[in-house]
Amino acid sequence: MMNEEKPGFIDFNRPVIAGKEMEYIADAVAAGKISGDGVYTRKVHAYLEQALGVPRVLLTTSCTHALEMSAILMDIQAGDEVIVPDFTFVSTINAFVLRGAQPVFIDVRPDTLNLDEAQLEDKITPRTKAIVPVHYAGVGCEMDSIMEIAQRQHVAVVEDNAHGLFGRYRQRYLGTFGVMASQSFHETKNFSSGEGGALLINDPDLVERAEIIREKGTNRSRFFRGQVDKYTWVDVGSSYLPSDILAAYLYGQLEERSRIQAHRKNLWKTYKTGLESWAFAHEVRLPFIPEHVEQAYHMFYLLLPTLELRQSLIAHLRQREIQAVFHYLPLHLSEMGQKFGGLPGDFPVTENVSDRLLRLPFHNALCEADQERVIEAILEFDF
Ligand SMILES: *Cc1c(COP(=O)(O)O)cnc(C)c1O
Repeated sequence: MMNEEKPGFIDFNRPVIAGKEMEYIADAVAAGKISGDGVYTRKVHAYLEQALGVPRVLLTTSCTHALEMSAILMDIQAGDEVIVPDFTFVSTINAFVLRGAQPVFIDVRPDTLNLDEAQLEDKITPRTKAIVPVHYAGVGCEMDSIMEIAQRQHVAVVEDNAHGLFGRYRQRYLGTFGVMASQSFHETKNFSSGEGGALLINDPDLVERAEIIREKGTNRSRFFRGQVDKYTWVDVGSSYLPSDILAAYLYGQLEERSRIQAHRKNLWKTYKTGLESWAFAHEVRLPFIPEHVEQAYHMFYLLLPTLELRQSLIAHLRQREIQAVFHYLPLHLSEMGQKFGGLPGDFPVTENVSDRLLRLPFHNALCEADQERVIEAILEFDF
């Protein structure tokens, strides 16, 4: 479905060179070290640590893998419970289920589509090991309430910040609230290396073990820093570090942070202004951004009144060579979710928005003329 490569076709997403990606890849190759933790991986680590004020950032092969690392770091065991929004990507919970956790789904708020913090306390049991909020569309969850409940109940918070890099909640960067957070650099995210991710570690006590888990359970990182005189197997782990070629590409993207974010902000505002009165007249809801939240401009979505209208708008746009998509079938109703006991009606808000949500083309190469075409096509959709 992605990248139809037809002239005139407006893709939902398109990966694009933002700056010096190719130059940096050539440089990484020429330097003769293209495995993990080379020059560009270190540059990305330093950049993100400084930009976000995080004690330690570790690049990973994906956000999924960063979440898996966090599950290992927290010693998730069979029977432990992990609370996640029902409206999210599978990896948010799968990374924990892989270690034997029992998923505990929670419904989302009808306004931001973030986990409903008012229902959180009731979900916590003596077996709860973690709460994994997702900052949907890069709009911060209600972190004041979530952190207060988590601290009082002695439960760890791990943020799935795949959408939220550089977004803020009450001035503070998303990804810096929980004990850890995961980022995604998948092709569909604001900043990309094709596939990629990062673990943000906010608790310095977890850094050493995180480095070991990421390096196949060995103390290789400490060895290379000269902190130990041999490099050996010391713990469980896997291979979670990406090639320096990918880090080189990503560094080229991150260097263009202000231009990329300004472009995305402009796209977002143009959709909002262009569609506001049409949406109002047709009872279509546009994204809601609370006053105290600075969003990361990850996506623009519409909530149509019904499933039927959502599907016919997708078809209407497709006829005009515009690709619109939807996402997140309620996790509790998926094949796996049902095995964990999910039943229709359990999470009414997720079930409702999942049918009605439509995402518009939104990417770093989307130009004004194409966006204008998308807006005009929507305005022609009368019902
Ligand atoms: C994209 C995404 C992920 C997974 O990211 P990968 O880097 O592809 O593993 C996880 N959670 C959310 C909310 C996402 O949008």
